[in-house]
Amino acid sequence: MAKIGIVDADLLDRGTRFPNLSLMKLAGYKEKVEGYTIELIEDWDKINPDNGQGYEDYEHIYVAKVFDFTQIPINLDKIPNLTKGGTGFFWVEASSPSHRLPDEIEHFMPKYDLYDQFIEHEIARGIKPGKFTDYQEYSIGFTTRGCIRKCPFCVNQNCDHVERWSPVSEFLADLEEYPNRKKIYLWDDNILAFPQWESVLNELIATGRPFSFRQGMDIRLMTEAKAKKICGAKYIGDYTFAFDNYKDKKYILRGLKPWLKYAKKQTRLYILCGFKGQGALDIAETFKRIQILMEYKCIPYIMRHEFYEKSPYKGTYINLARWCNQPNFFKKKSYREYCEANGENSSTMRYARKFEEEHPHIAAAFYDMRFDMGGKTPQK
Ligand code: SF4
Repeated sequence: MAKIGIVDADLLDRGTRFPNLSLMKLAGYKEKVEGYTIELIEDWDKINPDNGQGYEDYEHIYVAKVFDFTQIPINLDKIPNLTKGGTGFFWVEASSPSHRLPDEIEHFMPKYDLYDQFIEHEIARGIKPGKFTDYQEYSIGFTTRGCIRKCPFCVNQNCDHVERWSPVSEFLADLEEYPNRKKIYLWDDNILAFPQWESVLNELIATGRPFSFRQGMDIRLMTEAKAKKICGAKYIGDYTFAFDNYKDKKYILRGLKPWLKYAKKQTRLYILCGFKGQGALDIAETFKRIQILMEYKCIPYIMRHEFYEKSPYKGTYINLARWCNQPNFFKKKSYREYCEANGENSSTMRYARKFEEEHPHIAAAFYDMRFDMGGKTPQK
């Protein structure tokens, strides 16, 4: 039977925590509607045009990548029967009519077993099965797509509204076929900006399955009604929101207040840094956002934009991410204590000292603030 080759380029480069949903839909459609055999290609050499013509074993090959930094070690342009897709190749253009999946594929049930053989191989070579829960235990989809915010770092920057995308039934795994997929995660860009958010949540709740939104939700749009609804649902894991800009403080607090009345579990906010600037001001604004979250007993998750690499304080960004993104450290140690715990001669301490020497006022304001004191610095 004719075969379709599927390549998840992110997976083959550094590995990813999540399966590629577009590839799963494409594989589902090609298998169920067009009758092809589907193979997830696990080794670029199988189709490397410089090593023969292995690519001819496939009727067609589809390569997708989400991240632009994903490396592809072979020359795809030499493979005639190949199509590329995804934001890693086309960035904001990935959703344009020439690059997106046709509607009948976009709205097809994902082939949830696409990665099974790959996972078996990984486990056989000693990788812990727990690494693959996001591949194996969930139904995955977009109930809505789009956003209203136009953030300049985001793939949705050309978008101006949120629209209904898929009914939950479109991607809800049949438990007879996939008994382990008892949970749901969603890739919606900004569910809280969707005017009919409540009908979407009602649909999710009606499945009886626990769910979570994997993109940081927009806390600026939180209301009592939304907080009550989300907190009353079976929500998986921490609640995650975004706090991308310090200048949004007023709106973030306006949303956090009703939210925290209902949230009984940990609330975490993504803190984007290193995008707008990479100097002391950006670092000070990052610390300020962390301090606000400490005050409200929320946990930060530092997201370094790739531009941080240009910073003279690259090491400080790394330190901040290591300190904040490990809540056990973050909740018990100030930034200074965290750095000191790495050892006097560690690179962590070197970065901390350098920044403190050059910006003593910023260090004095933030190095000793503590989560357990609501962001305050202990009196000496
Ligand atoms: S709010 Fe989120 S999804 Fe919307 S444009 Fe900004 S980063 Fe993108």
